Amino acid sequence: MEHAEMIYSDEYLAYNFGEGHPFNPLRLKLTMNLIDSMGFPIVMRSPRRATVAELELAHDPSYIEAVRRMSETGQASWDAIGFGLGTDDDPVFPGMHEAASLAVGGSLVAGQEIVQGRTQHALNLAGGLHHAMYGAASGFCIYNDIVVAIRYLRAAMGWRVLYLDIDAHHGDGVQAAFYDDPEVLTISFHETGRYLFPGTGDISELGMGKGYGYALNVPLEPFTGDNSWQECLEAVLPRVLERFEPNILVTQHGCDGHAWDPLTDLFATTKFYWAAAERAHQWSHTYCNGRWLAVGGGGYELARVVPRAWTLLWMAMAGIPVGELTKTPTEWIQRWQSLSPTPLPQFLIDQPKDFPVIPRAAEIQEQNRNTVQRLKTAAVETYCNLF
Ligand SMILES: [Zn+2]
Ligand SMILES: [Zn+2]
Repeated sequence: MEHAEMIYSDEYLAYNFGEGHPFNPLRLKLTMNLIDSMGFPIVMRSPRRATVAELELAHDPSYIEAVRRMSETGQASWDAIGFGLGTDDDPVFPGMHEAASLAVGGSLVAGQEIVQGRTQHALNLAGGLHHAMYGAASGFCIYNDIVVAIRYLRAAMGWRVLYLDIDAHHGDGVQAAFYDDPEVLTISFHETGRYLFPGTGDISELGMGKGYGYALNVPLEPFTGDNSWQECLEAVLPRVLERFEPNILVTQHGCDGHAWDPLTDLFATTKFYWAAAERAHQWSHTYCNGRWLAVGGGGYELARVVPRAWTLLWMAMAGIPVGELTKTPTEWIQRWQSLSPTPLPQFLIDQPKDFPVIPRAAEIQEQNRNTVQRLKTAAVETYCNLF
């Protein structure tokens, strides 16, 4: 059995909303090329398109039908807006049904590889489309690969799933799908919805019905940096894993909370993304027999951030050691430098000297501590008994 597998195909690059749209699929190409130039072996599997029946695990058939119709013409129809399409965030493009189905199929292949015992860990960087809703596209996400993959894991194995989301935006689509389900615990760390899309993800969102207490949210203050974010993860995760006893860990690794990301106000560096991946790896072995399905997500600093953040994720997953001074290969920097107006970083792990000191860091850390404490209090008060 392989330890870790990467699900990838250049066909992923067809998920493209067009020139000027922040979601640039080239980031996957840059990441794969960086992993390749690092020179370590990588086990790859090709994705396949999810079938309509599989998409229906997460979506309204009439929505899928609408996507297919607009995918054929490449034009937004009169009813597009009702499906969240034809907007600035989610413009219609020809072939979008096929491209989005492939991203979903990648996460399904990742799940199947784990279910069938061919690997312990699997990574689909084209996945992580956590905003897509039952009947609508949202926030650059057409189909929700995470919801489809989790429903597949539930149906195939009956596994209890812990879903961890560290994208800078709230994982609202995944939370909504499992809001009343006590077998799938969703937990999202994100920039507070006071300032950022989609505006949800407050600590008061705890689930409903039988699923009450099985949705957890840690909204972080703007300018939250590595140390505070890591501290919040540590304050919540091991305890939740211990109590919830999941059979598999599913993690979303959007890296748009990086200080250089143009779309958010968080202040993480690649050191945090590496550390979070390392911890997820350890947790999968400690609590889930090594079962770990990871997906990508947001990340809009095309050349300077995403390739390094996700190479570090892959290295953590594959058990390849990383040091503070692990170099970004020169050939990779030379090949892609023209895409970035500022020099591409020499090291995979960001160096502190490249970031300004945040004067309010201590205050921000204190506010985040309070948020975690309020979540713990709320969770106990509502009998979810996780803490
Ligand atoms: Zn492992
Ligand atoms: Zn995001």
